[in-house]
Amino acid sequence: MGDEQIPTIGSCYTCKRTFRFTPATVTTAMIDPETGLLPGMTVLGTLREPTAEAVARSVKQPICPDCVKKATEFANPPALHFDTWPRRNPDRD
Ligand SMILES: [Zn+2]
Repeated sequence: MGDEQIPTIGSCYTCKRTFRFTPATVTTAMIDPETGLLPGMTVLGTLREPTAEAVARSVKQPICPDCVKKATEFANPPALHFDTWPRRNPDRD
C-alpha cells in the first residue's frame, strides 16, 4: 500500500471546500497555474487547443465529489423535457 492509498485532507480546487480524499482515487483536474483554468480554457470558458507549455506547467488539483457532480451535470445536461404544448385547433390556425 503506497502513499497514494492513504486518505488525506485537502481543499477542492473549484469550491475551496476542505474535503477528505484518497489521492489514488480522487478526481483531479489539470490546472494551468498561470491562468487558474484548465489548459486551453480561456477566461471566457471556451476551449482552444492547449499549448504544450500550458500542459507542461499544469498541475493536478483535487476536485471534491460535489464539484465533480456539478461538472458532470454541466457536461451532460439531463435530457430536455418538453411539456406537452397546448395543441391549437388545426382548423383555426
Ligand atoms: Zn468542490
